[in-house]
Amino acid sequence: MSVRVVARIRPLLEKEHDKDVVVHADRVGDGKPLTVVKIPNPKNETEEFSFAFNSVYDQVTTQEDLFTAEVAPHVKALFQGLDVTIFAYGVTGTGKTHTMRGGLRLAERGVIPRLLSSVFRRAKKLMKDTNGSTTVAVALSYYEIYNDKVYDLLEPPEKRTAAGLPLREKDGRTMVVGLSERSCDDLKDFERLYIEANNNRVTAATKLNAHSSRSHAILRVKVTQSTEDAVKESTASAIDLAGSEDNRRTDNGKERLIESAAINKSLFVLSQCIDAISRGDKRIPYRESKMTRILSLGQNNGITIMILNLAPIRSYHLDTLSSLNVSSRAKRI
Ligand code: ADP
Ligand code: MG
Repeated sequence: MSVRVVARIRPLLEKEHDKDVVVHADRVGDGKPLTVVKIPNPKNETEEFSFAFNSVYDQVTTQEDLFTAEVAPHVKALFQGLDVTIFAYGVTGTGKTHTMRGGLRLAERGVIPRLLSSVFRRAKKLMKDTNGSTTVAVALSYYEIYNDKVYDLLEPPEKRTAAGLPLREKDGRTMVVGLSERSCDDLKDFERLYIEANNNRVTAATKLNAHSSRSHAILRVKVTQSTEDAVKESTASAIDLAGSEDNRRTDNGKERLIESAAINKSLFVLSQCIDAISRGDKRIPYRESKMTRILSLGQNNGITIMILNLAPIRSYHLDTLSSLNVSSRAKRI
């Protein structure tokens, strides 16, 4: 099991051009890559905190740069049978959805469409290279966890039940009972499904008078490689997490409080799991939240990448500091 924790600092948006920047990327030693995030102590700004990551991406990092460095190298591992899990963690407005989904223009596409494109390319090549004796099938499921309940995003919101989908243990793994799975032949196919599913997500949130930043969205790409005598299955999961802002501070309606408790708990357990995995612990507390349980985080032999998204400006200062503090491996140095 390997884990990488990287940070990505987004550029200033147009409307932020006159804002005060407090977050900086740095390096340890000349000519070294960026691995450090620096931010002033909000209580005494002459003092600066530094956090170390496996890698830090700054304002000029493109979608392609990030994908090429952090995700593309693992597509091969996926086809070797390893599971790959990619999380975007951070405060609402810091670029999680931009990183995972991205924009419509080709250059603006995020990790998810690039991952699918890379999987389809490799699948095609493998089938061709083996003269069709290996077949590769790609199937998607896409769901969200809202208030600790699981909802299928490939189904219209009208089909949701109050309790959400139940979980069941099977062969030591946690399954979502009744989750739909759609096979997908190419990128066009995928994009149609993905757009429809994201619309379902927004519609469902609107009905609840909520916002989609309050739920975790989990896309799972199952790759099945079959030959005459063997079947190999592996899964890539891409997760756009709920916003990690200080959820106690949000308005005090009852619904929001329930939401906040669920979000805080699951993000806390996630960071505990990532910590435990990166330390090489035997015991990973993955059973303590639904999200980490469904992903069997740390239970498989696989690769986990956590991308901490950061906005550089002062209005995010306290939230940025707290997300730096909880994001594992981002040890203060
Ligand atoms: P989140 O999903 O974390 O709430 P978003 O992905 O919606 O944040 O990003 C907030 C805003 O910042 C959006 O307008 C998005 O297009 C923009 N943005 C985020 N990251 C980048 C980036 N790396 N380059 C350009 N714009 C970005
Ligand atoms: Mg978002």
